[in-house]
Amino acid sequence: MSSIAFVSVSKRYGDVDAVKAFDLSCAPGEMLALLGPSGCGKSTTLKMAAGIESVSSGEIYFGDRPVSGLAPGARNIAMVFEDYALYPRMSVWENVAFPLKVRGITGQPAAQRIGEVLQLLGLRQMAEQDVSGLSGGAQQRVAIGRALVRDPEVILFDEPLSHLDADQKVQLRAEIKRLQKLRQVTSILVTHDQTEAIAMADRVAVMNHGVLQQVGAPQDLYERPANLFVANFIGEPPMNLMKAAFAGGGRVVGGGWSATPDAARLGVLTQGEGAIIAGIRPEHVAVNPPEMPGEAQGVIVYREPRGDADVLTVALGTGDGGGEKLIAEIPGPSPWRAGDRVSLGLDVKSLLIFDAATTRNREALQ
Ligand code: ADP
Repeated sequence: MSSIAFVSVSKRYGDVDAVKAFDLSCAPGEMLALLGPSGCGKSTTLKMAAGIESVSSGEIYFGDRPVSGLAPGARNIAMVFEDYALYPRMSVWENVAFPLKVRGITGQPAAQRIGEVLQLLGLRQMAEQDVSGLSGGAQQRVAIGRALVRDPEVILFDEPLSHLDADQKVQLRAEIKRLQKLRQVTSILVTHDQTEAIAMADRVAVMNHGVLQQVGAPQDLYERPANLFVANFIGEPPMNLMKAAFAGGGRVVGGGWSATPDAARLGVLTQGEGAIIAGIRPEHVAVNPPEMPGEAQGVIVYREPRGDADVLTVALGTGDGGGEKLIAEIPGPSPWRAGDRVSLGLDVKSLLIFDAATTRNREALQ
């Protein structure tokens, strides 16, 4: 088990900067997710850790050992890929045995380790079966077994759940997390799926355009996104982001709404020049009858029932289509319908202020 550190790592493909000045460390035994939209540089980062791609500049360390000059085979890593990458004509047992066999570990010592791993993954009953006949979820468990069997320093997971059905995804998500914690193996998980990252990782690193945007525990990213990209990327439905300005008395005023943050926060919130964007999550918007006081008045233009929740789109002001629209997520099923006039209560504790020019959350930690 070892730490992984990227120190000012960059990767260029021709004139494409796939990864730019990337600084990140993953503690021993930690599972760190690299999360971001397609093309943001996640896989390139993982491939550089694996040694499948070289770095253009910077260094990668496993513990205090620089590895960017080492071939993949000399790095003591295992990889789990989205398409499982198993040997189709071999049995479950033979697939898991393979990494040991190529290292000359056979006989009783190998059998014992393979047996343990199969037991751990609930694959004992299937040991003799051909992997090609197994479900996607079982195949991926075999691939995980193959990764674990030789106790690598690091496991790199590249979108491991992408090809699975929803129910298999949920099962394997929990399974990978359980095994990773049990074996305390340092892991990096690449995913474009925030639910996956949040469910599985100790910390999540959000990337965009090859640049690390923020790294933190899932809750930190959710409650205190460092910038507009992270604010918008994490959370579903996404955070409401609205043009706003400070008015007298510490009020924040936008198109059809007005809110007064706690006086203790105002010092930081008002620090900075120029335009601001205010952000509030849909679940921090309460929907009340129109006669109740609130931060905004509006008309419901759309109701999306989600069973235990309703997601309401509310046009602020008279609802003539000219004003700002806000999304509210409230416990469901609610009595509200499109066309209803409502009063909105914004939970001002949760109202965030971003600099429009730099996109930075004014309360972001340095
Ligand atoms: P992600 O995994 O987040 O989808 P990638 O790391 O695959 O992103 O890609 C990052 C950027 O690098 C993209 O612009 C992609 O087109 C580019 N890229 C990736 N691999 C290559 C390659 N082998 N040659 C040229 N450009 C590449």
